[in-house]
Amino acid sequence: MEKLKALKGFKDLLPGESEHWEAVSAVMRESFDAFGFSLIRTPILERTHLFTRSIGETTDIVEKEMYTFEDWDKKPVTLRPEGTASVVRAYLEKGLAIPTLPTKLYYQGPMFRHERPQAGRLRQFHQIGAEVIGSLDPQQDVELLSLLHDFFQRLEIKGLTLEINSLGCPTCRPPYREVLQGYLEKELSNLCEDCQRRYLSNPLRILDCKKAECKTIAQKAPVSSAHLCGECKDHFTQVQEGLQSLKIPYEVNTMLVRGLDYYTKTAFEMTTRNLGAQNAVAAGGRYDGLAQALGGPSTPAIGFAIGMERIMALMAESTDHKPHLKLFIVPLGETAHHRLFPILYQIRQKNIRSEIGQPNVALKRQMKQADRLGAEFVLIVGDNELAEGKVILRNMGTKAQLEIPLEHLLDGLTDQIRPLG
Ligand code: ATP
Ligand code: MG
Repeated sequence: MEKLKALKGFKDLLPGESEHWEAVSAVMRESFDAFGFSLIRTPILERTHLFTRSIGETTDIVEKEMYTFEDWDKKPVTLRPEGTASVVRAYLEKGLAIPTLPTKLYYQGPMFRHERPQAGRLRQFHQIGAEVIGSLDPQQDVELLSLLHDFFQRLEIKGLTLEINSLGCPTCRPPYREVLQGYLEKELSNLCEDCQRRYLSNPLRILDCKKAECKTIAQKAPVSSAHLCGECKDHFTQVQEGLQSLKIPYEVNTMLVRGLDYYTKTAFEMTTRNLGAQNAVAAGGRYDGLAQALGGPSTPAIGFAIGMERIMALMAESTDHKPHLKLFIVPLGETAHHRLFPILYQIRQKNIRSEIGQPNVALKRQMKQADRLGAEFVLIVGDNELAEGKVILRNMGTKAQLEIPLEHLLDGLTDQIRPLG
């Protein structure tokens, strides 16, 4: 029979990694909560047209990456390729607007894109994302970017660069698009096949193409930031002044464009030098036209999404994630095992991560097991100890041993183990 395997581009999160994952999630909750964001969890499956309408028909995601299939009622549904469209759908559908203040939401969960699997690029990956819906104020861009900065600071990830750009708005983008097309027309035959198509449908995307021939041409192309209208120019200046006032380092990258159609004005990426080709750890921007495109009232908004697996890859070398056991109980014989099992249950109810060995395994082997599990303390109990009414607790770090009377075992253990944290 064929051996069962996970699908290509789909990954198991195993013990040893999952603790690390939870630690990153805990930092996320702390940071996002401090900045006044509330958690939202939207469904993984949505109507396909939510994504085609929002992300744009001529983007990579919609053209070739979505997991779309017919539901039982014959209507097309899609495994979400990103989080923003669903959050805005929920915002409009459930009326999450708050008077006078923007709505600040964050999410964490799996996304699905049928991309070519490679290092740092999966078909099911996970994002942490934040959305601020209902404000046009450049200060809001600054607040969101300061959250992104704070989150990575708390994770102590070094070597990151915040790159920002402005993509303009419905006033200044069409004339810029024409200028860009004018330049690209002369280079048309040198562009890749995809970009030759994009020339008409979505010329801005050509600036984001990863192919070498297109990159060279893109480098000399006119940039959006030089063609901004007064309002967009002013907005971009205020965002930069805001970042400077918070002493958040950034670089203006006039080449930065985003692969999704809905972005306007501020666009940004957090990049790293430490992950090879897949150098974007987080990305986002303003999307003032999205709510309206989804049938709602005109509602300015801004958000970002962080790649969870890329954070994990950046942190992998820096920390020790071995889960530590607090206590390992070594029962020497059936009687000891019998006697200790109820105590183990009580210890666990006190949130002390503990394990018990098997009754008929030699002491030496059990000590090795305790070591492998990273146990801080080991309790050794045999017939002698039971007869004498006292047991030995060994601190594996200091090698110190301590006798605890059997009748006070639970209290004695928690007293010894707890304060040492
Ligand atoms: P890229 O240019 O790397 O394809 P993107 O522009 O498609 O990124 P977004 O859709 O903005 O990325 O997603 C935000 C973040 O999610 C990325 O910066 C990255 O960290 C992560 N991400 C995107 N696609 C994948 C994937 N297939 N596998 C793992 N992480 C991903
Ligand atoms: Mg992509």
